[in-house]
Amino acid sequence: MADEVPKVEEMAAINHTPPKTGWMDTPAVIRPGMYCYSAKAKPLNILSMPYGRDWDPIEEDWHLPENWMEIVLEGLHERLHKFRSLQLFMDVCVRCGACADKCHFFIGSGDPKNMPVLRAELLRSVYRKEYTLAGKLLGKMVGARKLTETVLKEWWTYFFQCTECRRCSVFCPYGIDTAEITIIGRELLNLLGLNIDWIATPVSNCYRTGNHLGIQPHAFKDMIDFFVDEVEDVTGVRCNPSFNRKGAEILFITPSGDVFADPGTYTAMGYLILFHYLESMGLDITWSTYASEGGNFGFFTSHEMMKRLNAKMYMEAKRLGVKYIIGGECGHMWRVIHQYMDTMNGPADHLEVPKSPITGTVFQNAASTKMIHITEFTADLLRHNKLKFDKTRNDNYNLTFHDSCNPSRGMGLLEEPRYIIKEMCNHFYEMPEGTIREQTFCCGSGSGLNAGEDLELRFRGGMPRANAVKHVHEKHGVNTVACVCAIDRAALPPLMDYWVPGVQVAGVHELVGNALILDGEKERTEDLRFEPLAGMEDE
Ligand code: SF4
Ligand code: SF4
Repeated sequence: MADEVPKVEEMAAINHTPPKTGWMDTPAVIRPGMYCYSAKAKPLNILSMPYGRDWDPIEEDWHLPENWMEIVLEGLHERLHKFRSLQLFMDVCVRCGACADKCHFFIGSGDPKNMPVLRAELLRSVYRKEYTLAGKLLGKMVGARKLTETVLKEWWTYFFQCTECRRCSVFCPYGIDTAEITIIGRELLNLLGLNIDWIATPVSNCYRTGNHLGIQPHAFKDMIDFFVDEVEDVTGVRCNPSFNRKGAEILFITPSGDVFADPGTYTAMGYLILFHYLESMGLDITWSTYASEGGNFGFFTSHEMMKRLNAKMYMEAKRLGVKYIIGGECGHMWRVIHQYMDTMNGPADHLEVPKSPITGTVFQNAASTKMIHITEFTADLLRHNKLKFDKTRNDNYNLTFHDSCNPSRGMGLLEEPRYIIKEMCNHFYEMPEGTIREQTFCCGSGSGLNAGEDLELRFRGGMPRANAVKHVHEKHGVNTVACVCAIDRAALPPLMDYWVPGVQVAGVHELVGNALILDGEKERTEDLRFEPLAGMEDE
């Protein structure tokens, strides 16, 4: 944990004056609170990744392999040929600056190297030196520079101060996606074993046990059983989820964050209640204790690692013989599925196009991936009036909705969560235009930056999101931010506590679980948090 996070007033006093020296002459400063601990040898070795060793970013010597420069330049060369987008992004930026003030890390830190245009320039300058005549001849005059250890350290600093959220890409007239540049930048760093611990350890856990947290299959089942008990306490009804059941029609996979910590656990209870409700209507669904993770931290490492981790969900679907997969409330899981799955491991021809067993809706949007988001599934149920619910059970919540970057910008999932929330709750207020939907502000902790030691970075990056919440908190008394991403459910609570105390975080299916009326339920007096329902305070 970072020793000290600046006080709110100090954090809010952001200096946007650029340093006196030019950006090439201003080296990166790696300081506590603004960086994540380095990846250790153990997880990297488990994954057979190169140059796994224990090293410390604030020490001068990073123990790089002798031929590190050759490795990086060869890696860049390979990627320029492999990814046409990278080649384009290196050449077409006109430095118009339209993206400059769109990054939450620049807004919250004032550090020019957090402007997307300059973040990309960190790599582009080396590209220019190596690949353009002007760069070779004129060097610094045309923004070209040699790769040095100082440059490499700068890459590590700033490519791990980007949450790969793609907000900047929405504003670029040329469609340059700086997140893609960051992804490649991280790939190059990984060639030298330069990852961060909060990514490398979850990836190796996922590789070994099927989820980021390293939860073993029996423990995963125990955790779900615990939620079954909790649901019974609140509703009087006992759910009966199945695990690894061969021949089930649907496989359900959610991020492990949902089964691990509050408030994600309430969302997991919501899933259980919904599945129980639908059982008698023909829902035939099973959980897997092996493919027990929807998220994919491989995405924050390299394309190759993302592919390795993505494969397990589909292999498990094949092993169990299910028809298709429903995925829980996860963010980057959906970007991986929708943007990469087809060319990476798919198309998933061993599965069928998802068809709701209750409404008969065929989800043609998932014709290739065979995987739908649970909010698509539930919104369709509501649209067909298949659910009986009491929305007053969510009357304690004055809600707003945080569009998680990946489902909103990565797959266009904008309406379904809103539709569910409005059906389930009486009090809903949008944050201001320009901070929601495709233009949503990041939580500041995505892409593996959700560590404890970089809290200052997270609070700086999350400030624009928090400001928009503060606006509706003050104007409408909003006390809850709903979202459909497990990282958000972990990252937003401390962010809210810091910038907007009094605002809590909820998953959308937590609200569904509260409102659904189950056959044989007892009189409900508490919500899934064991808080009294509105009007039941004295019960
Ligand atoms: S908006 Fe696009 S073209 Fe303009 S500076 Fe940013 S990346 Fe370059
Ligand atoms: S992808 Fe997001 S975090 Fe990265 S530079 Fe763009 S806006 Fe900033």
